[in-house]
Amino acid sequence: MTETARVMPAVELSGKQIPAASGWTTWPPSDKPQLVGSRCKSCGDYFFPKVGVCSNPACMGEDLDEVPLSRTGKLYTYAVNYYKPPAPYVPPDPFVPYATAIIELDREKMKVQGMVVSNCDFTQLKIGMDMETVLEPLYRDAEGNDVMVWKFRPA
Ligand SMILES: [Zn+2]
Repeated sequence: MTETARVMPAVELSGKQIPAASGWTTWPPSDKPQLVGSRCKSCGDYFFPKVGVCSNPACMGEDLDEVPLSRTGKLYTYAVNYYKPPAPYVPPDPFVPYATAIIELDREKMKVQGMVVSNCDFTQLKIGMDMETVLEPLYRDAEGNDVMVWKFRPA
């Protein structure tokens, strides 16, 4: 495999953008998207995705705010997937390896998972580097909509 074969071109948007998971990110799309989570009013813990009851066993509070989470964080770990996952994953044709990452959000110090943007050279990923949240198509549906999901890229 050549160096360039690892990097998909940036995805071009052609259709109407719809969220892959409604309410999981700020919407409509912007160039500064954020994940949307919960913050417990009693203990201050953050959760993603949103929860109705605090998952802190010492708290179990039921009064939580819906809050946008930090756009930025540090790369905690990542993995490159060289095998095409089964459905419901909708692979590009031909399949191109992709990376998933866990990011520790700057303010919340909470770890969240997501894919790395498709045009990222995986060899440039370094544990601890600054990352930011973006929206990118996960796939194009049968109606031609770009189904958008959060991903991370080096900041
Ligand atoms: Zn709590």
